Amino acid sequence: MKIFKTLATVLAVGAMALTASTAVFAQDKGAIGIAMPTQSSLRWISDGNELKAALEGKGYTVDLQFAEDDIPNQLAQIENMVTKGVKALVVASIDGTTLSAVLQQAADAGIKVVAYDRLIRESGNVDYYTTFDNFQVGVLQANSLVKGLGERFPTKPWNVELFGGSPDDNNAFFFYDGAMSVLQPLIDSGDIVVKSGQMGMETVGTLRWDGAVAQARMDNILSANYSDGSTVQGVLAPYDGLSRGIISSLRGVGYGSADLPWPVITGQDAEAPSVKAIIAGEQYSTVYKDTRELAKVTADLVDTVVSGATPEGLDTTTYDNGVKVVPSILLTPHDVDLTNYQALVVDSGYIKPEDLQ
Ligand code: BGC
Repeated sequence: MKIFKTLATVLAVGAMALTASTAVFAQDKGAIGIAMPTQSSLRWISDGNELKAALEGKGYTVDLQFAEDDIPNQLAQIENMVTKGVKALVVASIDGTTLSAVLQQAADAGIKVVAYDRLIRESGNVDYYTTFDNFQVGVLQANSLVKGLGERFPTKPWNVELFGGSPDDNNAFFFYDGAMSVLQPLIDSGDIVVKSGQMGMETVGTLRWDGAVAQARMDNILSANYSDGSTVQGVLAPYDGLSRGIISSLRGVGYGSADLPWPVITGQDAEAPSVKAIIAGEQYSTVYKDTRELAKVTADLVDTVVSGATPEGLDTTTYDNGVKVVPSILLTPHDVDLTNYQALVVDSGYIKPEDLQ
């Protein structure tokens, strides 16, 4: 009798274990690889974490890697994901043109590829692209620059210097072109003067979005062009990390004082240190892109595609990667300055109030 009871218990426990493992198995929809460029910028850390959480919530396992802006490192990480047999890759590339071979391997293995925020160029094996309206980001930056110039400096012409993003990031050209669609007419009319004469992405680009590189370039611009008593009234900066480098350079020669007020400096990403700089009056504005939303739409897209369905309502005209037009989801960026940072980035929970202390 005792034996029977024990056997019954063993069987019951076994059945439960079987049910449990079946349940876990049913939940596991496979692995997704996420390749992020770097942890040196806050946005990519939160993009990675949000995406991972969203995909895990849908039943996937996630391999999340950061490449610390090292191209061979990112390549090796993606190769490893392909070898492991992920179902889809979500890639925010460092230099999108370096990934063609590994994306071919991915395509051969039936792995879907989503370019995340940064378009991967010169490859036919990019299935989708999720991002923000990058041209509009530049338009917002330039509009805010012109608004700030009008508020702070009643006398024209305004001396403005221009900074671009990393030339190996397709986005950098969209940001610059969007900004120049607003600024070029003002340069042509003489309202804005670029005293250094440095214009065009080939001249103003900042490799790897490196704040120290921007700071050094600003140092050079100031000493070569503004040692004659003239002053800078505005700086177009496409990313908060560059804006902070530019601010350091300007501070070094006395800007931010009663005699030498801060120029109007733009930015992007609404990083907490830069929102603090906006509150302090050092930076004028930034562009807020809700990366939580980008992660969410990307996770939904991956889930749709991996489940074998066809996503609907995508933009099929804007983003040509040199080989094909990549179907895209474009989210809306928002201009943020002293007047609306509370509502847009704090009340929405994007930045915690304590991070602005
Ligand atoms: C992103 C920006 C970011 C920049 C530097 C771009 O590709 O779109 O949001 O500021 O990279 O990380």
